[in-house]
Amino acid sequence: MTKYFIYCRKSSEDEERQVLSIEAQLTELREFAKQNSLFVVKEFYESKTAKEPGREIFKEMLGEIEKGTAQGILAWNPDRLARNSIDGGRVIYLVDTGKITTLKFPTFWFEPTPQGKFMLSVAFGQAKYYTDNLRENILRGIRQKIRRGELSAKAPLGYFNEPRLRTIEPDKKTFAKVKECLGAFATGQYTLTGIQRKMFSVGLVGKTGKPLALASVEHILTNPFYYGHFQYRGDVHAGSHKPMISKKLFDQIQEACITNGKPRKKRGPKNFQFLGFATCGVCGYAITAERHIKKSGLKFVYYRCTHKSKTIACTENRFLREEALAEQVKTLCQKVSLPDEWRDKYIARLESEQVESRHSSDLFAQNLRDTISAIKMRLERLTDAYLGEALELTEYQEKKNILMSEKKTLEEKLSDFERKGNHWLELMRNWIIEANQAENLSKQENLSGMKDFLVSIGSNRRLAAGMLLAEFKTPWNFLAEMPAQARASGAGAVNSDANQIWWTLPDSNR
Ligand SMILES: [Zn+2]
Repeated sequence: MTKYFIYCRKSSEDEERQVLSIEAQLTELREFAKQNSLFVVKEFYESKTAKEPGREIFKEMLGEIEKGTAQGILAWNPDRLARNSIDGGRVIYLVDTGKITTLKFPTFWFEPTPQGKFMLSVAFGQAKYYTDNLRENILRGIRQKIRRGELSAKAPLGYFNEPRLRTIEPDKKTFAKVKECLGAFATGQYTLTGIQRKMFSVGLVGKTGKPLALASVEHILTNPFYYGHFQYRGDVHAGSHKPMISKKLFDQIQEACITNGKPRKKRGPKNFQFLGFATCGVCGYAITAERHIKKSGLKFVYYRCTHKSKTIACTENRFLREEALAEQVKTLCQKVSLPDEWRDKYIARLESEQVESRHSSDLFAQNLRDTISAIKMRLERLTDAYLGEALELTEYQEKKNILMSEKKTLEEKLSDFERKGNHWLELMRNWIIEANQAENLSKQENLSGMKDFLVSIGSNRRLAAGMLLAEFKTPWNFLAEMPAQARASGAGAVNSDANQIWWTLPDSNR
């Protein structure tokens, strides 16, 4: 039976930080040995670099192998064993002389053949160079193919990948059919779904035998490959394959796509920027957007309830102009924002609060510590009393348990307090800054920024009677509910309770 040594190594060098820790390597290798029924006689590990020869443990292990204590090594990866030609050479020499009959790596397949040994010597020391080179060679190969006009990808419908010549050739079964459909669509008499149906009827189907997805149909209609070009990484290259249609027909198809094809428009900020932003305040269903063209030719976008509910007969029939909605987004945003001068006032207040709170929290913690040490004293006295036989065991235990539980409660309170500390002040400061940035968003008329901001700080945005309403998370809700006058005076007060943050309105004599 082959005996194995486990060898683990990790150096503290930066480039090896991503390597598994020695413990992790050990765990993995033990598991690997168990799964593969490998008989491990000893484990070796050290934290040394393998770039230079001279690792003691490694040397010791090879010495043991020369003596014949084991014939196999189990390591995480060849680069754990050697990263220099001398150590790598020693391992290969031991393989050559039969002292090592097997090497096992969970991450690397090795067999003691000439090829195996060559691969191993590559893995020892030159692994990085080798993989870099390989990647470069693959990319070079792709570029070479592109220069020759060959597409390095799956052939589009109507063609197939010729495996021997590695070219793309017309597919006898589908070439004429695709050509027919492209010609039909170019006439402008087909919609996108119409041409999808036609393709299905002539037998152009997807993998599962179902009609091609609309996105695939669209892709076929707009793929320059059919007139002899191809795209690679956004660039168009002249192909060496046989074109299916002329460029002229391709251009006609593109025109038909615009007028008839109606490829699905992507919903972007350019179209309806508030789609999905709010719901109907009456029925709670989605708000939809519509484009209206007035007699004068002016275009307007309106938002209204979809009236999709089957249970609620929604009474909301109002249409809200996009501009009006945008204005309301801005108003709402301003309600929960802090102007620069308020920010400065609040931060100043927060700082004085911080000084005060440090005093009071120091006091609070000191009180806790005092009480705890008083309990400790009482416990000691109690024990003394018991040892001096002034107390019965049951009485002693009863009193002791009460004190111990009290002590535990107070200790937890203290560590909790020390851990959280003045965390709320930090939260408050962050919040003030964020609220001030919201003010800047509205100043800059940054609509999408304001929209995202409102989404992040609240929920239940709804349109009711033409008004945009929302619910805000604490402490934003306090800003939103603050009467305009109080906001104008900029005199809100900051309060703390444990780690809660809230905002109170200033009282009259403040
Ligand atoms: Zn509704």
